[in-house]
Amino acid sequence: MRVRSILKGFKPYSWETSPVEVVKKFGLSIDKILRFDTNTMPLIPKEIIEEFKSAIQNIKINEYPDPSYMELREALSNYLKKDVDEICITAGCDEALDIISKVFVEPETNVIISSPTYAMYRIVVEAMGGKIVEVLRKKDFSDDVEKIIEIVDENTRMIFICNPNNPTGNLTPKNDIIRLLKDFPEIPVIVDESYAEFAGESLIKFTNDYENLIILRTFSKAFSLAGARVGYIIANAKTIKILNIMRPPNSLSVPSLTLANIALKHLDIIRRNIEYILSEKEWLMKAFKNIKCVEAYPSYTNFILVRFKDLNVHDVYEKLLRQGIITRNVSDMPMLENCLRITVRTREENNFLVENLKNICYG
Ligand code: PMP
Repeated sequence: MRVRSILKGFKPYSWETSPVEVVKKFGLSIDKILRFDTNTMPLIPKEIIEEFKSAIQNIKINEYPDPSYMELREALSNYLKKDVDEICITAGCDEALDIISKVFVEPETNVIISSPTYAMYRIVVEAMGGKIVEVLRKKDFSDDVEKIIEIVDENTRMIFICNPNNPTGNLTPKNDIIRLLKDFPEIPVIVDESYAEFAGESLIKFTNDYENLIILRTFSKAFSLAGARVGYIIANAKTIKILNIMRPPNSLSVPSLTLANIALKHLDIIRRNIEYILSEKEWLMKAFKNIKCVEAYPSYTNFILVRFKDLNVHDVYEKLLRQGIITRNVSDMPMLENCLRITVRTREENNFLVENLKNICYG
């Protein structure tokens, strides 16, 4: 079969560990599996599910969704204080990345990322024939903005800023992003705010000032809806119009749209859940401080990057896995030797993780 030449040597996304496979491999029961690897919420808001159960009775599943996704855009417009024309709904933030690269990337052009960062940026760009230019972060994981500015050339088609960054958890100062937006008005600056609700910081108020500012958001993290696959883009209405050229029809399911709409009616619950996770993060940080082989990095998200001293990260990963604890091994990423990324979960689950880490470290 003749496939695109690009596929030769193409490094695909390194999939998260499958819970079903862990169950089979270690003879565990599926309810013993704890996913500390996906940066999702451990809490399922009961009220949202109850309302969904009654809403689903009236869903016309034989029909496609409303092609404009207007109901959800209106609800988001209310939540974000943005016009409906400044919002584009996508099947998760990952589909937004696909749309954006189809709009901006051509073969032999380049896209700048601040490395280490979310792996899908590389994949969507390379899939379009573009080249990734990695600018290594500084020692404290802050973006090397001077270097980014220096490296931009006439072939640069996008700059990605993951804010806060996955997997390092740090925030990029607003002024650094504004500087890029101002210095390069022709280059889209993609600000991935998938974890912004945990940081309490956002650049959405600037989309009217900069046509090249494209913000990505998701319902997968703070809104507890990763399984529904709903995300959205916020940008200047002119920019959204361009992005819509590549938006596929009907990529969101009617049940997913319904869930997102219901979730937006329960912002009080969502905010409460965020507060809970933030306080659990503080608890985990303190607990990590007391384990001598663990170094935890500060985080503005619902996950913590940890580095192991005097232990092999692959051994730690495997020992946790045997207990049903799945973490994200990020140790093959630049700067992240011996590191795991750990999602904040409930107190009981966090405690189970901490006890296991203590056993591994002192056992
Ligand atoms: N951006 C970042 C930084 C992420 O961490 C993730 C998911 N892990 C995504 C985008 C994709 O999110 P979604 O579930 O909305 O596709």
